[in-house]
Amino acid sequence: MQYITILGSTGSIGVSTLDVIARHPDRYRVYALTAQNRVEELAAQCVQFQPSIAVVGNAESAQKLQLILRQQGLKTQVEHGAAALCAVASAAECDCVMAAIVGAAGLAPTLAAARAGKKVLLANKEALVMSGPLLMDAVASSGATLMPIDSEHNAIFQCIPAAYHDQHQRTPSQHGIEKILLTASGGPFLHRDINTLDKVTCAEAIAHPKWVMGRKISVDSATMMNKGLEVIEAHWLFGVPASQIEVVIHPQSVVHSMVSYVDGSVLAQLGNPDMRTPIAHAMAYPERIASGVASIDLVKIAQLTFEAPDLVRFPCLKLAYDALQAGGSAPAIMNAANEIAVQAFLDGRIGFRVIDQLIARVMAALPSGPVTDIESVFEQDQRARDVANSFI
Ligand code: NAD
Ligand code: MG
Repeated sequence: MQYITILGSTGSIGVSTLDVIARHPDRYRVYALTAQNRVEELAAQCVQFQPSIAVVGNAESAQKLQLILRQQGLKTQVEHGAAALCAVASAAECDCVMAAIVGAAGLAPTLAAARAGKKVLLANKEALVMSGPLLMDAVASSGATLMPIDSEHNAIFQCIPAAYHDQHQRTPSQHGIEKILLTASGGPFLHRDINTLDKVTCAEAIAHPKWVMGRKISVDSATMMNKGLEVIEAHWLFGVPASQIEVVIHPQSVVHSMVSYVDGSVLAQLGNPDMRTPIAHAMAYPERIASGVASIDLVKIAQLTFEAPDLVRFPCLKLAYDALQAGGSAPAIMNAANEIAVQAFLDGRIGFRVIDQLIARVMAALPSGPVTDIESVFEQDQRARDVANSFI
């Protein structure tokens, strides 16, 4: 029996994870569930999955949750705040942690899980973008297992030899790996008249053509910053330099990514765009379990198409390559500026086209510093947020 903590259980990934867990009561139990504020939804999850602990954002939400759970006769212990998140991510009672909080808020508990040697299922790509070397070192020194949940990285994991994953110092060329082909749907604005992009609404930006996701990652997909974050994520997860990571637009979202080898072979992982596939894969690896996702009907899909990304339309993708090239805290600075810009866009305070301009300005204003410890990462993250806010 595996005991799982889900950080961000009310989110899109959290709900998909619980869906997979519910299909395998013989294998998995929930140790802890966490949510920032959707108390009623969290309460309903607690009733169904009976976790030992539930964590919410603040004391008020905790009181509200406590009340509902007591009325239901549940013994689930209720906690709140950042320290409680780290505690449930590193508790001895839990074996596996789904890191599915959105944004920088997920970094501390994800790192706590890695340091405690847990099996870490990583959806929270921002954590890795901010602190790549720290998180990878924590995993290596504690003996934790890091499994990618992001569909592209999970696909790459499946297309890379198992022996490669077991090595700490990995050299792609020793395994014949030539490059990683990271697929991208192109989001809702792939073919929209570029001159109208400054006028798109929030509703248009979060209406992803293929995936149903949280609001922040949906906007990231529309700007393609999501793919930029994923390039950096792939760099850290697989030890591959930026020059060997190529983004390919694939609007059908059936090929989730590919690995190209020196002998001319290209291995791909295909499937319906449903996050329960990578979640089930990562949870059960090296076994395979049912996820509830139907297999693909290639005849019905009929066509798989590919094109090169347009960096004029999607400047965020270039910013991410620049940040990875600059190294140090540049990715953390870029990530922080992006979080502020996306929130400002969602709040209707800035236009869509201002998102990339704002990030570029923050990156130009703040030089990259060293990433030596978590405190320095948070300092640079805060500085970038302050500068971004001052520009708005
Ligand atoms: P979401 O917005 O649907 O859910 C976010 C979850 O995090 C919620 O449970 C929320 O309560 C919690 N949360 C938000 N702010 C918090 C804070 N300050 N402190 C503690 N908890 C907080 O997001 P999502 O779409 O499920 O995405 C989660 C993560 O997974 C993101 O990093 C995203 O990039 C990544 N991801 C998502 C998908 C997808 O298909 N949704 C795919 C790949 C990767
Ligand atoms: Mg992805």
